Amino acid sequence: MALGEFQLIDRFFRRLGAARSDVVLGVGDDAAVLRSPPGEELVVATDTLVEGVHFPKGSAARSIGHRALAVNLSDLAAMGARPAWATLALTLPAADEGWLAEFAAGFEALALRHGVALVGGDTTSGPLAVTVTLLGHAAIGTALTRSGASPGDRIFVSGTPGDAAAGLALIERRLEQGTPGVRDELLRRFLFPEPRVDLGYTLLDFASAVIDISDGLAADAGKLAAASGCGARIEADRLPLSKALLECAGEERTRLLALTGGDDYELLFAVPPARLAMLEARLAAQACRTTAIGVLREEPGLEVRAGAQRLELPRAGFDHFLR
Ligand code: ADP
Ligand code: MG
Repeated sequence: MALGEFQLIDRFFRRLGAARSDVVLGVGDDAAVLRSPPGEELVVATDTLVEGVHFPKGSAARSIGHRALAVNLSDLAAMGARPAWATLALTLPAADEGWLAEFAAGFEALALRHGVALVGGDTTSGPLAVTVTLLGHAAIGTALTRSGASPGDRIFVSGTPGDAAAGLALIERRLEQGTPGVRDELLRRFLFPEPRVDLGYTLLDFASAVIDISDGLAADAGKLAAASGCGARIEADRLPLSKALLECAGEERTRLLALTGGDDYELLFAVPPARLAMLEARLAAQACRTTAIGVLREEPGLEVRAGAQRLELPRAGFDHFLR
């Protein structure tokens, strides 16, 4: 028997709202009622994933559920905010129970790990697209932004950028398949990115500016620099490159993927020199690695150097309307 819209919401999504006591009214009424803590500001992000644009046709439903929330958690991480509530607008070509169970499981596992309650949404039929709005909190006046950095601040990046873009390239057969271990590692980085929410909290004490990398490290570094009224220099030789990526793509292509590949969901951040010593001790205790890769400067624009040589990048990040 075909599943109706209301049965579908009841069966797969209502229970994802059970996680928090500050949800006065969740899924099931005309709107949700939520209780914000006093002394806090609301921090809100929305991201849409469209089949064939943000993930290949036929992607595993569990990965789509995970990524739809992960990309928004990453935006809140870049603000140093604590995630709390999500809404989910789901457009489906068909109400396939197996697909929905997997999608909900992917969303739920990540939501539980970050204490996020699903409080509402919309369900429609049409070409597959998923929009999540994520709401969270930061103490008044403390949220991190892209615009607080100054010339002389050092630039850091978390994780090993480029892996996710390689994972997508493997799926789309634009890259040699490599050994199963390497392939699995890179696929996991595209299909199940780990948003750096804890790192975001740590950065509240240290960073002058933060951005999450979704469109490629170089493009997003340029955005942070421009928002801060500076330029930036990135040292390509200092980029943290994963063994898996090097093994799969070779050195030159690895470097290019790390600089221009999308979908990393790592944090790129600026730290004033006076805070560097303290930061190092705190970063050592973080689960994910962070690496100094460059510096902000007065001269506008982004320069990427490999030793004495200036690198020209083929593509300045992803833009939906300039492809
Ligand atoms: P309305 O017609 O008043 O907009 P709907 O019938 O669309 O309400 O939705 C009924 C309830 O189910 C609402 O509380 C809505 O937020 C929730 N809802 C609908 N779709 C989803 C979804 N995909 N995930 C979570 N909650 C949903
Ligand atoms: Mg509706």
